[in-house]
Amino acid sequence: MAKKQFKAESKRLLDLMIHSIYTQKEIFLRELISNASDASDKSCYNALCSGSVPDRERYEIRLTPNREQRTLTIADRGVGMNKEELEKNLGTIAESGSFQFKNDVEEKEGVDIIGQFGVGFYSAFMVADEVTVVSRKEGEEAAWRWNSKGSDGYTITQTEKEEPGTEILLHIKENTETENYDEFLDQYRISDLVKKYSDFIKYPITMEMTKSRKKEDSEDYEQYTEKEVLNSRVPLWKKSKKELSEEDYKAFYHAQRYGYDDPVKTIHTNVEGSLTYTALMYIPGAVPYDFYTKDFKKGLALYSNGVMIMEKCADLLPDYFGFVQGLVDSADLSLNISRELLQQDHQLKAISQNLTKTIKKELLSLCEKDWETYGKFFDAFGRTLKYGLYSDWGMNRETLQDLILFHSSKDDAYTTLKEYLDRMPEDQKYIYYGTGESMAKIRSMPAAEGVLAKGYELLFFTEDVDEFAVKMLQSYGEKEFKNITDSDLGFEAEAPSEEYADLMKKIKEALGDRVADVKASTRLVSHPACLSTRGAISIEMEKVLSAGPDAQKAKAEKVLEINTGHPLFPRLEAADEEQLRLLAEILFNQALLIEGLPIEDPVAYANAVWKLLDEQKS
Ligand code: ADP
Repeated sequence: MAKKQFKAESKRLLDLMIHSIYTQKEIFLRELISNASDASDKSCYNALCSGSVPDRERYEIRLTPNREQRTLTIADRGVGMNKEELEKNLGTIAESGSFQFKNDVEEKEGVDIIGQFGVGFYSAFMVADEVTVVSRKEGEEAAWRWNSKGSDGYTITQTEKEEPGTEILLHIKENTETENYDEFLDQYRISDLVKKYSDFIKYPITMEMTKSRKKEDSEDYEQYTEKEVLNSRVPLWKKSKKELSEEDYKAFYHAQRYGYDDPVKTIHTNVEGSLTYTALMYIPGAVPYDFYTKDFKKGLALYSNGVMIMEKCADLLPDYFGFVQGLVDSADLSLNISRELLQQDHQLKAISQNLTKTIKKELLSLCEKDWETYGKFFDAFGRTLKYGLYSDWGMNRETLQDLILFHSSKDDAYTTLKEYLDRMPEDQKYIYYGTGESMAKIRSMPAAEGVLAKGYELLFFTEDVDEFAVKMLQSYGEKEFKNITDSDLGFEAEAPSEEYADLMKKIKEALGDRVADVKASTRLVSHPACLSTRGAISIEMEKVLSAGPDAQKAKAEKVLEINTGHPLFPRLEAADEEQLRLLAEILFNQALLIEGLPIEDPVAYANAVWKLLDEQKS
């Protein structure tokens, strides 16, 4: 019997499959089961068209592993194929979804695409060295046997088959040094694969499972077989919301291993229209242990009509919502995913944009309706949101600015920016914030005094990212953010006195380039001196940046402010040149210490203090 050759492009794909080094060979089972399910759909449809009501249970998809013969059979009761169809469908891939895939592989060597998109029937050759298809088309008597050992071609012969439908018989490859193929003959492994990829196929996927039990009246065990349905069939997310309780959602969250905690929010949406999809998403209640490491993989599972096509589709979520767990099921994708990769990208993008909006909306509503839970959520993932503000040049400000919380001097509790704004007295020009390790430290900063004394509220920035995030935001509700150490606070209680200009100049000379300016302060109440800054870089930013590669460039422009009302001030006024140099040195270095900045020359500072103590003595 003459062997027929595969069409050229089919042969190339076949070669790729046969020699695949792809680690996820297991997806062949998903592909074959999906084909069986499609064929059953078509048969159902035909039945409906001819006026009968199809019985779903009839469309069983049977899996039969045989260890001795190294075979695995996937049998369905679907429409089947006649000779021409076998020829057309399995002899060439030009018409099937795999065609587009082939082009893609050649362009990008992206063999991992196999795991993400359907590659159909040919994936069988990743695990089998011989494939036999026996098929009988519904409404016809003849059955046909298609057989191929790979890229050298295939044969089609007539045969007999009792019922319409298709049986795919895989002869599983022998193990090699590096690859284990035996696993595809193992009933538990097969059962796991069905659960993983095909759990929500609507037809029963069955297998005769070999089990053992104790014999009656004896200590011996015996083996017996029992047919099991491997898939749970109805996807939770396809049920209507009304049918589902919070417990159902929670159980699913845990079954999918999204987290060990309970989610703080479940989002179940059904979208119909130009884009049709169902999404089931969860906001976790606790941070996954690897969340802030590079090991964490963000993304949602992607399903097409109940069949999983990707475990973690990162493109569905922006990084700042990377904590969201769940899945998206879209029938739209099944049409495009294997056929038009480009178009598929476009669809994914549109879905992702929609999901981002939905997540934002739900978080806002949580924030409004359940402040306590939102606070808990923010404790866990607030940092991610703030990084989101900072990244992409502040592009996501619209999405994120109302989701951000800061602790406020009002009561040390969280506040939204909107609440802060609503409480602002009319004369307040800026949104004030202080940066530091803790709320207590910021509160005790000399620079905080003036702002608090004015009765203005202060936001506490205790994380590195905070100030960078608001720098991107620039303003909120037309009010700019202002670091309390900025030399211009927007309220000068009284104009800085000219009276001291001379003295300030002398102190500036004593300190040289280390300060940009020295001025009589209008903000200090009880402290003798403090540092403020001019320009874009604050002291806190200098600290963060000095740990990075641009350390030298990233210096804050420091202004030493001196409290002319302080009891020690007259000593400055009375000091001679030598003493003034000494006092300036001490004031400046102490101001550095208070800000948590290192002293450049600790020995000189210590000497200055000792000298002062020595003078005191006499
Ligand atoms: P795709 O499913 O992406 O079209 P495949 O290579 O998986 O590509 O299959 C090619 C064609 O072969 C299918 O479109 C279908 O018409 C036919 N086919 C595959 N498996 C079966 C089956 N079990 N029963 C009936 N037809 C099938």
